[in-house]
Amino acid sequence: MERAGTILYLDGVSVAFDGFKAIQNLSFVLKRGEMRAIIGPNGAGKTTMMDIVTGKTRPDEGDVYFNGTIDLTRHDEADIATLGIGRKFQKPTVFESLTVADNLSLALAAPRDVFSVLFARESSGRARRIDEILEIVRLGHRREHVAANLSHGQKQWLEIGMLLAQDPKLLLVDEPVAGMTDAETEETARLLREIAATHSVVVVEHDMHFVRELDVKVTCLHEGSVLSEGSLDHVSSDKRVIEVYLGR
Ligand code: ADP
Repeated sequence: MERAGTILYLDGVSVAFDGFKAIQNLSFVLKRGEMRAIIGPNGAGKTTMMDIVTGKTRPDEGDVYFNGTIDLTRHDEADIATLGIGRKFQKPTVFESLTVADNLSLALAAPRDVFSVLFARESSGRARRIDEILEIVRLGHRREHVAANLSHGQKQWLEIGMLLAQDPKLLLVDEPVAGMTDAETEETARLLREIAATHSVVVVEHDMHFVRELDVKVTCLHEGSVLSEGSLDHVSSDKRVIEVYLGR
């Protein structure tokens, strides 16, 4: 497979923890501008795969390239964070006591001095960018609200907004709709589809209803490798996927 035109390229990647192979000969390609859903049973290797991409875990074997040419195995986690890969973990981690706008302001300014950001007036450029992001993440009406008062779903959206503020080329989003209401779940699918119009996105997800709403190619992992890949209809009718995951 050609690396040109890819945002993420894994080839023959393996990693073992104390002799246990969590990732085995994994190959995965995400084209620039693509959104992909990754599914699979607990222990399939989804988190470890994301850890490899962000440099938290170093693979024992294989190639990992970002944006076609950047060899991620040669960069450490701190380096990779500056390359334009944004990761959102399952639990929202926003600054509860700050307003929605100040959360975004901090994310826009990171890693500059926190105090100068909070006590300086918002520059018009930054205020405009905050407004743009708030529109994308459906929080325009919550701009000056304290984050602690947001619903769980709104906190997830705020955190997605904080990722966007850092202008990533690739977003890795882990189970964004866990704990959301049905309405929030559907809105999150719409929101991510809009973001995917201008970004490359990997969504790790268990909620098959949500994956259907995302309407993207699906990769099912099992025992550290790709078990099945293609449209959701293709993957969800694959006997092996039903046996190890969907049929349970
Ligand atoms: P998933 O995210 O799909 O549930 P993980 O990537 O978390 O799967 O885990 C894959 C396998 O690797 C599991 O069997 C898990 O127990 C094991 N594993 C993950 N991280 C470690 C670690 N740091 N040490 C030992 N085993 C690990």
